[in-house]
Amino acid sequence: MVLKKITGRIYDIQGFSVHDGPGIRTTIFLKGCPLHCPWCHSPESQAFKKELCWMEIKCVGLEKCGLCLDKCPKDALSPGKKKISDVTKEEMQLVTINRSLCDDCGACTEVCYSKALYLCGTDYTVEEVMERLMKDAPFFEKSGGGVTVSGGEALSQPEFTIELLRECRNKGLHTALDTTGYVNYDVIKEVLPYTDLFLYDLKHMDSETHKKAAGVPNERIHENARKIAKDGGKLQVRIPVIPGFNDSKENIDAARKLCAELGDAVETVQVLPYHRLGSTKYQRLQREDPMPDCKRPSDEAIDVIVARLKSYGLNVNVH
Ligand code: SF4
Ligand code: SF4
Repeated sequence: MVLKKITGRIYDIQGFSVHDGPGIRTTIFLKGCPLHCPWCHSPESQAFKKELCWMEIKCVGLEKCGLCLDKCPKDALSPGKKKISDVTKEEMQLVTINRSLCDDCGACTEVCYSKALYLCGTDYTVEEVMERLMKDAPFFEKSGGGVTVSGGEALSQPEFTIELLRECRNKGLHTALDTTGYVNYDVIKEVLPYTDLFLYDLKHMDSETHKKAAGVPNERIHENARKIAKDGGKLQVRIPVIPGFNDSKENIDAARKLCAELGDAVETVQVLPYHRLGSTKYQRLQREDPMPDCKRPSDEAIDVIVARLKSYGLNVNVH
């Protein structure tokens, strides 16, 4: 079969992933998401467009380089703050980006040899991704792993994701799809025959609270989970634990109730304690971290949630 030249916009391909489904996996992260959760640790996944990022730690400074300044057709780059170099201990001046002028054209990245400036988001054909994935196939086989398609919301690029999962299935690779569930069920129905496992977040069980935080209500998400279960799909339910937002006994009980409704379709429940690893990514995009003061929940608090879920007979793990 000749693969159609459908492209998907991808911001990362991560090999040797052990947290996105069983075994060793390669995870494909697609750009674009209909939700905007303030605890998101991949803010670069939210917009569908390609975005300019800048890593301060890699910039060698205007004294030694400054090549980017003349390259910008929009005059969006200018001298920024000064700092003492960690390496030479000399003062250096960094570059700053005026985001209201920058149109993410990427011209400056072509001259930034240290890769301080880079464009997040690359368009790949299914064929190109498959070529990359097949290099990892021996690891999948040995570990019981496979491919996970994630995002952003991978189903926001339905044509590409359907084709990619179908091709993985043709090659006999185990497939997982990490989805918000906030999509038209017709799309889910199309990927269902090629998806061994859905990684499915329950962020907050109260729809109003869900909407306030993530921008969308949760009814469609829950309804789609029920439909997946009814249509024979398998789920790993994931609960991101955000202190003060969704860690109450009532919310965990409501999540447990939905899992009970979904029955045998739920293979595992994964508890995901909030972490701060995404905070530097907000800096790279020069966006404010929406939750600068939120801390990782304590191990004791996570233990209580896990015990509560386990007491209802669920197979629970913590990532
Ligand atoms: S991406 Fe384009 S517009 Fe933005 S700073 Fe770089 S060169 Fe200028
Ligand atoms: S080209 Fe890159 S390394 Fe050089 S000054 Fe610009 S951002 Fe820094």
